[in-house]
Amino acid sequence: MKITAIHAVQRVRHLTRPMRNAQGESDRRRFTFVIVETDAGVTGIGDAFGDPLLMPTIIERRLAPAAIGLDPLDIETLWRRLFASGSFWETAGSVVCGISAIEVACWDIRGKHDGLPVCELLGGRKRDRVEAYASDLHWEEPQQMAELARDYLERGFRFVKTHIGAAGQHDNDLRRCEAIREAIGPDVGFLIDINTAFDRQTALARGRELEAFDPFWYEEPLSPLDYQGHAQLRQELSMKVSTGENLYLTEGFQPLWAVNACDYVMPDILRCGGLRQAQQICRDAVAHGVIPSPHNFSSGVGLAATLHLMAAQIDTELLEFDPTGTAIYEEMFIEPLGVADGMVEVPSGPGLGIRFDV
Ligand SMILES: [Mg+2]
Repeated sequence: MKITAIHAVQRVRHLTRPMRNAQGESDRRRFTFVIVETDAGVTGIGDAFGDPLLMPTIIERRLAPAAIGLDPLDIETLWRRLFASGSFWETAGSVVCGISAIEVACWDIRGKHDGLPVCELLGGRKRDRVEAYASDLHWEEPQQMAELARDYLERGFRFVKTHIGAAGQHDNDLRRCEAIREAIGPDVGFLIDINTAFDRQTALARGRELEAFDPFWYEEPLSPLDYQGHAQLRQELSMKVSTGENLYLTEGFQPLWAVNACDYVMPDILRCGGLRQAQQICRDAVAHGVIPSPHNFSSGVGLAATLHLMAAQIDTELLEFDPTGTAIYEEMFIEPLGVADGMVEVPSGPGLGIRFDV
């Protein structure tokens, strides 16, 4: 089989409420889907989760010329050729996101070709459903956040995540966390994501205050490159520390293991280099006593790929699930997306189990 064409297709979703985290605010979401066509008539779907201004150029002008003519079933060779397709290597950032998107699309093609779901190609389907957390609660009025959190509980989620930590919002953030914890009660997992906003001193001081709300984990309080800083927070705080969504390739995660930087590690399939890299990062994590919990905040492509990885990699925990209806999930799944009791079903059809019809 040979790849004959690769297209990037963008879609925009306008949000009914702004999505705010510590790094800014957005009233829309942009998706860059990647369609890989073959001479066998089988098509694979990826999602280029990088800078939407750059991704079509990276996909169509840089990576597609290197991929066309290659066998999409030989994913290892294809990945190596894409990774070393320029005079200078791009070892992180949007080019690796583009490679990730094409790699994921090739797993989709391989699964369709073999008549098997992707999890079977990754080592076998070891579970049919995965526990998820509702990833939303971007900062706004405390009562609105509390109501949303309660809503997610009523929908069956047993874990919820908030995004706080913006400059000048400290006192309000404490009120937000207090309102959310009060709304969800003591038994629900409460994840707090800082999206890299703090320096070491602030992360420690704020962390001590946030511990009053018994967080399940403290996510990316620092720069993703401050491995030692995360390690220190782990020692000084009683809550667990997670990081990893901004790191690339198996090699990019090794400094985390070297200094015991985190309790949970969050590789993103669509950023770290694709399914194979993510699976190896999960295995490396487990070997170092770290629990892998893949990051996932894109479209149904990322959701499906993450479900297949977690089905095959039994030691991963907690699927990141966007419950807001703005992530282009349901429209993409060939079998209806099963979400009940805080669990999400792993697709059972060939490939990723998705279609591009949005
Ligand atoms: Mg995060």
